[in-house]
Amino acid sequence: MALNLVMLGPPGAGKGTQAERFAREHGIPKVSTGDILREAVHSGTELGRQVSTLMERGELVGDDLIIGIVRERLARPDAIAGFVLDGFPRTAAQADALDAMMGERGPVICVEIQVPDEELIRRVRARRVCEDCGANADAFVHQVDALPDLCQNTERCRSIGPKWVARSDDSAAVVRERLKVYWRDTQPMIEYYSSRPTFRSIDGLQTPEQVREAL
Ligand code: AMP
Repeated sequence: MALNLVMLGPPGAGKGTQAERFAREHGIPKVSTGDILREAVHSGTELGRQVSTLMERGELVGDDLIIGIVRERLARPDAIAGFVLDGFPRTAAQADALDAMMGERGPVICVEIQVPDEELIRRVRARRVCEDCGANADAFVHQVDALPDLCQNTERCRSIGPKWVARSDDSAAVVRERLKVYWRDTQPMIEYYSSRPTFRSIDGLQTPEQVREAL
């Protein structure tokens, strides 16, 4: 049966880090809607132009747009055996659309990583991504002044090393907005999932290794 995993939780909970590792270990793609949109902004595509202002403000992009992106991505052959979704669904409409997409593909397993707001703000302010390839430096493990000198994703990163930068939507004001949006739009959707037998919640204050074990 396909392994369809949905990672839920607020910004900074560690979804991306865990999703990446889980996907690699199980040979299934990680589908991060935030990464797809950032890549579009970075490359200056029409999609990127459409979403950049909303992303800068920490607001959600429209349901129809994001649902279309995910539908197209999950229809690709590499996602037939399963996928790890990171950052989708975020609203009740997106959750309904995902259920409709699943059809015969088996259930979605939903895992929520729980972390209190104060810790999320601390982590997100410390988070860095490679400007070139988008790789995340693990803010829970590394201090901002001791980031790894490797990220390996692209030729440039392999040869001259990563260029770690803060995400523009990780500034204090935007993080507060993103958390507000999370509690308003996404948390109620999690309550909707939590009545299902395929739902689990994990304590995200544990070390990344412990969260991985729990996952
Ligand atoms: P993330 O990297 O998941 O924190 O996403 C970064 C930004 O991309 C969000 O603050 C939203 O502006 C946008 N975004 C990502 N995923 C979604 C989604 N499922 N629905 C709406 N907007 C999204």
